[in-house]
Amino acid sequence: MTGYHCSTNASAVALLCLTLAAGCTGGRGPIEEPRGEHLTSIEQIDKGGEARPQKAPPIQEAIAELRCITAAYGDFIREVRNEQDVARAVVVMNDGTEIRWEDGIEGKTFEQLLDEPDLQDQMSIRYPPGRRSEAPGINDDPGRIRVESFFKSIYGADKQAVKDNLVTVDWMPRHGGGKLRFNERNGAADALRAVSSQLDEGLPEDLLRYVIPTAGTFNWRKIAGTARLSVHSFGLAVDINVKHSDYWRWTMKRNPSHPYRNKIPFEVVEVFEEHGFIWGGKWYHFDTMHFEYRPELLHPACLRATSSSGRRTRRPGPFDPRGPDLPCAPSRSHRKRDSRATTRGDLPHKKQPPG
Ligand SMILES: [Zn+2]
Repeated sequence: MTGYHCSTNASAVALLCLTLAAGCTGGRGPIEEPRGEHLTSIEQIDKGGEARPQKAPPIQEAIAELRCITAAYGDFIREVRNEQDVARAVVVMNDGTEIRWEDGIEGKTFEQLLDEPDLQDQMSIRYPPGRRSEAPGINDDPGRIRVESFFKSIYGADKQAVKDNLVTVDWMPRHGGGKLRFNERNGAADALRAVSSQLDEGLPEDLLRYVIPTAGTFNWRKIAGTARLSVHSFGLAVDINVKHSDYWRWTMKRNPSHPYRNKIPFEVVEVFEEHGFIWGGKWYHFDTMHFEYRPELLHPACLRATSSSGRRTRRPGPFDPRGPDLPCAPSRSHRKRDSRATTRGDLPHKKQPPG
């Protein structure tokens, strides 16, 4: 549980945290520098394939998933209506924003999942913590599906609101990592501080080059060619050293199938994951410099809660991110989730001055 933030302030939500635990346990080559052009173009990739099957998870599993949301973001949730009738459940945020668990839209393509997700979609691709031995399957991008109104409600509804919530994090001060701006809400900045401290104390000297210098945190902007805000807009993501990172769009310029590549060592990844950060190196649309605070996907109880549904695309398994380039052979379930539509990645990686 180290580093996880769980509500204790609001009694109703604290109860949800408790029931969550009970319910989950009981049943349930040279690297190109990022350039401006890919920030403004839309590339057609990943055409064809089938729409994702919209098989709903079992009710108890869906309730467990919903409770993962309330456990990880409870301080910002006023109530959950119709929790037991989960298909009709509505999460009411503290600011009054109402977000449906299911929007009732069947047969979304992968692009629609990114553009028009509901909260169930946000939880629908399971994040696999720890080491993995295989590359992600097609469109296996755990964490890239985000309900924007949800994040706006918690971290700031517009650029200025987010900026008002940013605080300074000294990044690995023993090694002169500089200062980063990060959102203080929901324990995000504290989680980044914990990552920093742990890396500062324990990361072997020969691995420091992967995490210093960093390449940016807060950057309010939309993902190129989409109406979606980058998660960097909320001050919730940090990019580590671009020079040792791989990004699917860069790879795609040389190989349209953008075979998986990574050089970031697991020693770095596991520290971030321990404190609630997912890693873009576990995405089919890989972005190995990118770490993003998403405690709902890494809460230990939630990892246990959701292993049996067909909507879940993978289980945790061994993974050595420093392993050789791996083929992106899609599994059967991955092919099912492949999209007909254009897929556009997160394109946050403009260098930013620290602080
Ligand atoms: Zn990033």
